[in-house]
Amino acid sequence: MRVSNDSQAAVDDFYVKFWGVRGSIPAPSPDTVRYGGNTSCLEVRCGARLLIFDGGTGLRYLGNSLLGKPLDADIYLTHTHFDHICGLPFFVPLFVPGNAVRMWAGHLSPELTLLKVVREMMIAPLFPVPPEIFRANASFNDFQAGATLSPGPGISIRTAPLNHPNRSTGYRVEFQGKSICYLTDTEHLADGQLDPSILGLIEGADIVVYDSMYTEAEYRTRMGWGHSTWQEGAKLCQAAKVKTFVVFHHDPDHDDAFMDQVAAEVAKAVPGAVVAAEGMVLRP
Ligand SMILES: [Zn+2]
Ligand SMILES: [Zn+2]
Repeated sequence: MRVSNDSQAAVDDFYVKFWGVRGSIPAPSPDTVRYGGNTSCLEVRCGARLLIFDGGTGLRYLGNSLLGKPLDADIYLTHTHFDHICGLPFFVPLFVPGNAVRMWAGHLSPELTLLKVVREMMIAPLFPVPPEIFRANASFNDFQAGATLSPGPGISIRTAPLNHPNRSTGYRVEFQGKSICYLTDTEHLADGQLDPSILGLIEGADIVVYDSMYTEAEYRTRMGWGHSTWQEGAKLCQAAKVKTFVVFHHDPDHDDAFMDQVAAEVAKAVPGAVVAAEGMVLRP
């Protein structure tokens, strides 16, 4: 694995760039500038293909970086809690005619559709304009978590259901024999067993980004809230022989000094583990 800030996509390049690493609510402050205050958004490049994971407030900055040339991209949502979709109406490429943006969710059907949920977010008096305002060719697509998706030649995305209120979907992107997994928001199982659904998805993966929102002390008063700890992420990654474990979905109350402490503890327990920060690029 290499860490760099280079975001140039070469033809066969495969990387993940973090545009938002925070959970629940944006946390901009002088005390969070190093790890970042924006909510969940990842850019995954598979050669020429752009895959986006989650549409938190980080999505606005990613969108601004994409302006000036035609865009054809997919946005895969883990779920539709507000911190993961509130960036969608501010993703400027959706307002540019000629762009193609396909949005996907694996946790809603058959009771709901992604289009219905986005409409219920973009509705007066909560929001001034409906999704019909988008000028790009925007599509809203539903699938069942567990399905395998094929966004382009040589790219495969396996999915699995996660353990979260109102459900969530975990993703594993495979390209050129390497893999990047994205698992947020999810809570480890109460019986102490490792979640078999997650273990199956991350087996032998190169990079696993995992919901590590709480410390173990905090978790004791937040059971059932749908989030996990870095210690549980480390157990899963060790059992599944993952190469690089990435701590993600930082609690909004965990400032830079707190996250430095987490990073030091994680580094001791799991050599090579990484704490996600805005702007960070990881290559498997
Ligand atoms: Zn979240
Ligand atoms: Zn959530």
